[in-house]
Amino acid sequence: MSENILKVSGLQVAYGGIKAVKGLDLEVNRGELVTLIGANGAGKTTTLKAITGTLPPCRIEGEILYLGQPLRGTQSFRMVQQKLAMVPEGRGVFTRMTIHENLLMGAYTRNDKAGIAADVDKWYAVFPRLKERSAQLAGTLSGGEQQMLAMARALMCHPTLLLLDEPSMGLSPIMVEKIFEVIRDVSRQGITMLLVEQNAKLALQAADRGYVMESGSLIMTGEAARMLDDPRVQAAYLGE
Ligand code: ATP
Repeated sequence: MSENILKVSGLQVAYGGIKAVKGLDLEVNRGELVTLIGANGAGKTTTLKAITGTLPPCRIEGEILYLGQPLRGTQSFRMVQQKLAMVPEGRGVFTRMTIHENLLMGAYTRNDKAGIAADVDKWYAVFPRLKERSAQLAGTLSGGEQQMLAMARALMCHPTLLLLDEPSMGLSPIMVEKIFEVIRDVSRQGITMLLVEQNAKLALQAADRGYVMESGSLIMTGEAARMLDDPRVQAAYLGE
């Protein structure tokens, strides 16, 4: 049987009077790439932030289990120790550190020096742009380059689960292609991922399973390949 890495049950989030998430159930199993898609304001980012405990003050109900243990109330550094990594919307790289320092920060819970150095080389090979600019401050990188750095940094901790929030946002089509190439490659390496995306087509093409959110609720879930062929998904999210 497939092993449950993340299980969200009955999640509800309200900002004052606004119900952003209205009873969401979602699962991610080991090795899966699961995508959560939906229009602007559907509640996708709120769901991810509820998982990582980074919501602003709000009312939250429901259960979030990571590797069978409740996640709510866990501090961020413990999450990284437990190999739960997040690439937030807007990247969140350390702008006043160099690219190299950012990558090393991603490995701060590890002490295998040789392994860390090998991983840095590995990510430099995947993203030659980062290697060329290794001594440059991360704040001076382009949006796409910062996205690459944020992903590489998150992967430096060898995550059991990687959460990605809108990795394609604000990027040129070429950069979007590159980022999705890397997402597919990371998935093939067996890393479990939950990908929140507005680009439903690319997300469903890369994913094993998908969830569609609308106004705080799930309206559809299933195998990503089937969802791509679903006329309702095509009409509402794929512009077909
Ligand atoms: P997007 O793709 O635009 O980021 P989303 O699906 O991620 O959209 P959320 O950002 O989760 O959607 O927003 C869901 C709803 O919650 C929206 O109506 C939004 O206005 C509201 N919301 C989000 N953050 C806050 C906040 N800090 N305070 C009040 N309302 C909020």
